[in-house]
Amino acid sequence: MIRKFISRVFGGKSNGAPLQKTGSASAKDSKAAVIPRSTHGISRDQISSGSRRVCETLQSHGYKAYVVGGAVRDLLIGATPKDFDVATNATPEQARRCFRRSRVIGRRFQIVHAYMGQEIIEITTFRGGLVDEAKTDAHGRVLQDNVFGTQAEDAARRDFTVNALYFDPATEQIVDYHHGVADLKQKTLRMIGNPRLRYREDPVRMLRAVRLAAKLGLSIDPEARHPIREMAELLENVPASRLFDEMLKLLTSGHAVKCLQQLRAEGLHHGVLPLLDVILEQPLGEKFVLLSLANTDERIRQGKSSSPSFLFATLLWHEVLSVWERIKAGGESSIPALYQAMEEVLNIQGEKLAITRRIAGDIKEIWALQPRFEQRAGRRPYAVLEHPRFRAAYDFLCLRAQAGELDAELADWWTRFQDADGEARSQMLLPDQGARKKRRRRKPRAASAPTAPAEQG
Ligand code: ATP
Ligand code: MG
Repeated sequence: MIRKFISRVFGGKSNGAPLQKTGSASAKDSKAAVIPRSTHGISRDQISSGSRRVCETLQSHGYKAYVVGGAVRDLLIGATPKDFDVATNATPEQARRCFRRSRVIGRRFQIVHAYMGQEIIEITTFRGGLVDEAKTDAHGRVLQDNVFGTQAEDAARRDFTVNALYFDPATEQIVDYHHGVADLKQKTLRMIGNPRLRYREDPVRMLRAVRLAAKLGLSIDPEARHPIREMAELLENVPASRLFDEMLKLLTSGHAVKCLQQLRAEGLHHGVLPLLDVILEQPLGEKFVLLSLANTDERIRQGKSSSPSFLFATLLWHEVLSVWERIKAGGESSIPALYQAMEEVLNIQGEKLAITRRIAGDIKEIWALQPRFEQRAGRRPYAVLEHPRFRAAYDFLCLRAQAGELDAELADWWTRFQDADGEARSQMLLPDQGARKKRRRRKPRAASAPTAPAEQG
């Protein structure tokens, strides 16, 4: 996670050597509170064994080492951390030498992956404050940040006070430079430093603010909240792939519905987040999308997975429906029109949202299977069952039924059909109509649409 944050946000070059730098605005704020376990309540048993051993090993070699960031924050509010990252004053090369199974990764800002049994622990060297001449784009977004620094500087470079907490497994103390523990107690998400400057350096922090507030049940401190509306347009300059990653994090946070409501309340959707415009600007689709996100939230809270392709298939579905209608109204017949609509929507949105080719392929399969569910005679339902995307497409069908978009009877039929045994299954098939046989003899139409079912009239 931290690696991503470093390499995505600040894509500078690093030669791996610890650079000593000066002049950072953050260096002056170096007084930290050291909070004992009796006050904060976290014990070393609550962190993963891998991260604990990584800290112990680094410390035994004379380095500082802490579990840092989201993990400490999550433990403090009683949530289960996604991962345990370690921060140290050892350089990547020094850290690597402490572990038998480890490697330096990343060409820009290097970090170390240490393999501890099943766990991979990310070890990051403390990062320095931004030097005055840090490279930025025309809007002030920081493009390069490749300097190692002190722990105090590292803390100041993090985004929110609750994310700048360092837990030392040896002493079970938390080192807190920016009153993060107190903020967490008061349920406040507070930016470190001047929020306007920090959003300018990295506009994605606006999205992180909304996501973390929703996920952690915190309210965004007014000083960090107010500038969001007026600075929202800075998100337009963020590379699409980074926005995609952040949106995906948001949508799979288990609190997507809350996040979306909050994004909307903060004025963060219009124009700047193409995906949200898609979701929120189509009255017909909104019910479907909210249902889908509520389902996803539920799945994630139950610890189940959620695939990006399914999610994006639901988010863009109503866009496809409306384009499909338009093409059909132009005289094209149903299935070819669907294929054209899928292409059109994915061409436009795919680029804006940085949807990868692989995901786009999966999305199309989910969509293309939808009309095939309506064919319940002959061999066709069996072929649908065998399709590698059947599961996702069936879940999609159920969602459509739930949204009132099609008859629930159809989804029920498929629920029963897949569970039925051979004999019961064949009895469920609807009578084949002669007309269809005739059509089947027709040559397949578009070469680009191998799975397109025959026309249903
Ligand atoms: P999550 O629960 O989603 O993992 P997180 O806060 O741990 O939330 P990560 O992306 O894993 O988020 O980042 C790890 C840490 O790196 C954060 O806690 C924060 O200290 C720092 N960080 C991440 N992104 C940024 C950013 N854009 N600007 C400043 N600091 C950041
Ligand atoms: Mg994290």
